[in-house]
Amino acid sequence: MKKCVVLGAGGFIGGHLVTKLKSLGNWVRGVDIKYHEYKKSDSDEFIIGDLRNYECVNLVIDDTIDEVYQLAADMGGAEFVFSGENDSEIMHNSALINLHICDVCVKKNIKKVFYSSSACMYPEHNQLDPNNPNCEESSAYPANPDSEYGWEKLFSERLYLAYNRNKGLNVRIARFHNIFGPLGTWNGGREKAPAAICRKVLTSTDSIEIFGTGTQTRSFLYVDECVEGIIRLMDSDFIGPVNIGSDEMVTINELVDLVSSIENKNLKKNHIEGPLGVAGRNSDNRLIYEKLGWKPNMKLIDGLRKTYEWIKKQIND
Ligand code: NAD
Repeated sequence: MKKCVVLGAGGFIGGHLVTKLKSLGNWVRGVDIKYHEYKKSDSDEFIIGDLRNYECVNLVIDDTIDEVYQLAADMGGAEFVFSGENDSEIMHNSALINLHICDVCVKKNIKKVFYSSSACMYPEHNQLDPNNPNCEESSAYPANPDSEYGWEKLFSERLYLAYNRNKGLNVRIARFHNIFGPLGTWNGGREKAPAAICRKVLTSTDSIEIFGTGTQTRSFLYVDECVEGIIRLMDSDFIGPVNIGSDEMVTINELVDLVSSIENKNLKKNHIEGPLGVAGRNSDNRLIYEKLGWKPNMKLIDGLRKTYEWIKKQIND
């Protein structure tokens, strides 16, 4: 049995990760600035604390801990991340959290640390063609992320790698691509495209609003496969950074059609102005397959069905 700390355990992926680590027989401490919105944590112990505060990080990562999973970040959907209005907060808060974590993990001799980066760190110039985006891990430089959120992720990747080289910190780094599923934010402005579209399809009778032309492309990974990828990466000798994402690329219009097909809804698409992010993005899964002998393979529609049913229940409850 390992002793694990999940930072950001009150969040979407962190909540699922706690459940998985517990199911594998580990002792788990969850830490977050808030409780999980949709379920009681499965962790053995849940500490409410602000990881921007060094003393908090120093307290929750004690020297009995084997592994740290760092998922805490100031983040949200396109409206929060790409509007530009939250840039200083996003950079300050997340960088501070990661700086503290690296320092404390070295001082406490933590055996292994997982860091969750994002596909948002990939250069904008490689994602201008919606039909042919390049998100191969090695394409990260010369760097040119399209958001400050992406720049902070790139900085923190480099921070963890520097600690690995200079101080022997044993790190694993993954770049998540659009994770979705039940128990994630589905309303309020910080939700991602799959949850927002499920909600809109569920609550609309004749038309649905979509940011932009809907021709921008993305891939979406169901959260169970994301968690599986984290566990496999931690069990491997590969430091990363490596993509954890789906390579089933769809346009946003196609995503709307898939969600609408779940209950055979026929909705008109109203294209409105809104934050868009890059024109195209898809996970390149060659490296994860080469290093772990595994890559995500669940069909998008299967994950959408589970998410749709969960959001339907939230709306009706
Ligand atoms: P989330 O917002 O649901 O979870 C992040 C958690 O961090 C939240 O519960 C939040 O309260 C917590 N947190 C923020 N500031 C904190 C602080 N100062 N002290 C303590 N806790 C704090 O997000 P998520 O979707 O679960 O994402 C988890 C990680 O994966 C994040 O680092 C995110 O950047 C990264 N990521 C997610 C996606 C995705 O599609 N969901 C894609 C790429 C990368």
